[in-house]
Amino acid sequence: MSAQQKRLEAAREALHTPISVQEAHRPEAIEIAKQLGWATDEELAESQRQMDEAGCCTHGIDPDCCPMGCDGIE
Ligand SMILES: [Zn+2]
Repeated sequence: MSAQQKRLEAAREALHTPISVQEAHRPEAIEIAKQLGWATDEELAESQRQMDEAGCCTHGIDPDCCPMGCDGIE
């Protein structure tokens, strides 16, 4: 496995392992996601805007119901 492949694997694992909202929104994680072609700045902004409008947390669900405990985070 090349060094780049290892890096991509590590990035995937990090992104698929939600530790906390803060962790999920680390700039590095977003950068890696963008590098992998998962999201552009526009897509991230648009999805965040839609979630804000819907009153959802960053996981796209009602903060009161979020298993990640988003109701306690502003
Ligand atoms: Zn949440």
